[in-house]
Amino acid sequence: MATVVLKEKYRCYDDCRAEGCPEHESTLEFQTVSNAYKFDNGKGDTYYFEQGELETMVDLLRQLSVRRVDSVRI
Ligand SMILES: [Zn+2]
Repeated sequence: MATVVLKEKYRCYDDCRAEGCPEHESTLEFQTVSNAYKFDNGKGDTYYFEQGELETMVDLLRQLSVRRVDSVRI
């Protein structure tokens, strides 16, 4: 069993604070045995996904990015 942990800093597009976004550090954890994903947005929220859910969401985001240049970059 292994856990892969990736971290990345980002800024909110819509300011999360009146003085502007201070920057957050997100964390993605991947559990290799269960193919489970855990995303911590660095703002106190944690989201859990199983592989099929996440593959579908990424595929839909890819389709959206083709249609809309103002959407998330894939
Ligand atoms: Zn923010």
